[in-house]
Amino acid sequence: MASDPRVLIIEDNTANAELATFVLEHAGFVANAVTDASDALALVASFQPDLILMDIRLSGGDGLALTRALKSDSATSGIVVVAFTAYAMKGDEARLRAAGCDAYIAKPIDVASFARQVEAALGAGPPMNLDSLRGELADR
Ligand code: MN
Repeated sequence: MASDPRVLIIEDNTANAELATFVLEHAGFVANAVTDASDALALVASFQPDLILMDIRLSGGDGLALTRALKSDSATSGIVVVAFTAYAMKGDEARLRAAGCDAYIAKPIDVASFARQVEAALGAGPPMNLDSLRGELADR
């Protein structure tokens, strides 16, 4: 990659945000985190991430609404948005996709594979494949 990929973590659980930041920085990403949805858009503009890990259930906001806003603005529509949630029940793929999410990473994160999952999402972009994720989870 030309430069270290920049990842913004929008996650209201501080422990999750800190762990994700730590793991990504260790793997060579430039990572930044915000825990309040109301601060997120300003940080997107100043930090200019390549990829956003988007908690769907945010205090102070809704991750899907935030995703729709990012994807409808030409200044931010090219950012890969990865839904970052434990909420992976049947029917959610369509909901996440409709909002503009490009991929999905399950919480709690798997420290051993998390950075690779983020890298794969960066490279793959759309379309996301929840079926392969479910397969991976079922194998554990
Ligand atoms: Mn949350």
